[in-house]
Amino acid sequence: MEKTLKILVVDDELDRMAVRCALTQTGIQMELSEVGDSSDAFSILSTTAYDCVFLGDRLLGQDRLNLIHQLRSSRIKVPLVVLIAQEDKLAVELLKAGATDYLSKSRISPENLAQVLRSVIRVYRAEMQADLAKDQLRESHQQLIHKNQELEKQRQQLQMQNFKLSEASVLKSHFLATMSHELRTPMNAIIGFSQILLRPKFGQLTHQQADMVERILNNGKHLLMLVNEILDFSKLEAGRLDLKAEIFDVSKVINLVVDEMRSLAEAKNLSLLVRTDLQNSLIFNDPVRVKQILINLLSNAIKFTESGEISVEVKELSANRVTIIIRDTGIGIAPKDFKHIFEAFWQVDQTLTRKYPGTGLGLAIVNLLVRMMDGKIFLESKVGVGSMFKIELPRQITLSALGNDDLPLQLDRDRFFFSVKNPHHSSSQAR
Ligand code: ADP
Repeated sequence: MEKTLKILVVDDELDRMAVRCALTQTGIQMELSEVGDSSDAFSILSTTAYDCVFLGDRLLGQDRLNLIHQLRSSRIKVPLVVLIAQEDKLAVELLKAGATDYLSKSRISPENLAQVLRSVIRVYRAEMQADLAKDQLRESHQQLIHKNQELEKQRQQLQMQNFKLSEASVLKSHFLATMSHELRTPMNAIIGFSQILLRPKFGQLTHQQADMVERILNNGKHLLMLVNEILDFSKLEAGRLDLKAEIFDVSKVINLVVDEMRSLAEAKNLSLLVRTDLQNSLIFNDPVRVKQILINLLSNAIKFTESGEISVEVKELSANRVTIIIRDTGIGIAPKDFKHIFEAFWQVDQTLTRKYPGTGLGLAIVNLLVRMMDGKIFLESKVGVGSMFKIELPRQITLSALGNDDLPLQLDRDRFFFSVKNPHHSSSQAR
């Protein structure tokens, strides 16, 4: 014990002297104080910190059992060594009340006092450290509780925001679906009436009038296509678009789409090639939606290509999967844009003065449809060189909404129609 210990001895004059004598012979550096009265002892201990108190049985005022109770209930922490006449029941009672140790008066000697002093101080320090650790633990526990409460509050706020967001998203999808549905009726009337006007039997139009009606017709068709795109997307996003599956010849559908789009490619002097390499070209899927995927990818390939060629390839990936690859030699897509390319309304060129028109929904629709069919879509592209979109589709889409009895036993030319409920809900995220 290097530092000077502050020791207090509480007892009558005679016994204090015995303790003092023995303590001074221990060789321990100490500063000794003495009192004979219990109330003096209490007030001095209330104001001054001691390293140890020796408490005899001949103090004046209240007895030492009461003094110990008073000290401990006042949370005065100090090692208390009680000096007793003989080791009896009293020692146990004093220890229970809060004494740290006891020493029989007959055993007071420099060695015994030094030993008891060292031991109580060691115990006391260990207790102090344990108390400190307990306090720290309690504090960090409180902090944790507080942090937990804050996290819970944040979680609830996030949940609320999420709820509001999904409510807003449902409203948006509903609005888009209703608006595009409502727009389709007048658009169809505009298209229908301009077609009638252009029929010769209806009456002769001047060259200028015919030109104007043709423009009305073309713009009407374009607008209808955009409205249909928005309607499809909002239905897909809301999980309300159903697949009408049947067995059909995928090579035939590809050739049909390519023939429909050939004039667009030719107008830009692009060659359009088809390569089909299928043992069995029958698949079980929704032909209208497969066609829609092809049209979206092919029209993009033509739109974003200024020279060179576009090719469509279909081949067997395995016995139950087919792959359709659409390649172009167009402007290409930078790798940084890959992750956004399938997001709704996203376009590499977002400016209003952009060269290539479009809604930015084509690839989002393709992605959602392919996911709905349990297929996969891959993109490879290099700026200035061209792009490749690869679609992998199961030969037979899964009809999760139907019982197994409804599944066609084999893919042959008999017609099967099933309605596949969209299993995906409101997600426009690309994989
Ligand atoms: P849109 O064609 O109506 O703009 P899409 O969803 O079909 O919308 O395509 C999103 C964007 O991805 C396009 O605006 C274009 O920037 C890019 N993109 C799609 N296909 C190609 C392609 N074949 N070559 C280059 N860029 C493409």
